[in-house]
Amino acid sequence: MYCKHCGAEVSDAQASVCLKCGVRVGDGSTYCPKCGAKPDPMAIICVKCGYELKKPNKIKAMLEDKNVDPTTFVGAIKHGIQNYANFKGRAMRAELGWFYLAYGLVAILAWIPILGWPLFFVELGMICPFLAVTARRLQDTGRPWSYIFFFLIPIANIVFLFIWLLAEGQKGTNEFGPEP
Ligand SMILES: [Zn+2]
Ligand SMILES: [Zn+2]
Repeated sequence: MYCKHCGAEVSDAQASVCLKCGVRVGDGSTYCPKCGAKPDPMAIICVKCGYELKKPNKIKAMLEDKNVDPTTFVGAIKHGIQNYANFKGRAMRAELGWFYLAYGLVAILAWIPILGWPLFFVELGMICPFLAVTARRLQDTGRPWSYIFFFLIPIANIVFLFIWLLAEGQKGTNEFGPEP
């Protein structure tokens, strides 16, 4: 075994502290504990010996995945979550549609007694990305995100938002950014 902190060989298998640097065996992330190589700090496996350095973080990988297609159900959810606080730019109809569908499904399933109740928290967490995708859709049609406040006006919210949110996106670049 090698010290993960300083790379020195820890000969005693029972040792709990590295005698060279004094750091507890297993602490640190600089050196591979199996072969002592110094892998890239971002690497999740040691390229020299194949040892798994850290568990791949699925949520982080999902958030950093640049290859999402917002015209698919899963892609739209991913894109919506990645851009949960992004009120700039534009979103196409498909992205808004899929995200609304996902939101609706979660909202319905949350009413299943007991089993569905944890989904209320998912629903709560989806509010911000829900508002953000709505804002980007409005901007795609050339309207400022502040039109979102029409949601608060009864009847008008249904009529106006349906017309606006389903309107075709503007061609080319508008004042809010390039065509998505
Ligand atoms: Zn050490
Ligand atoms: Zn290694």
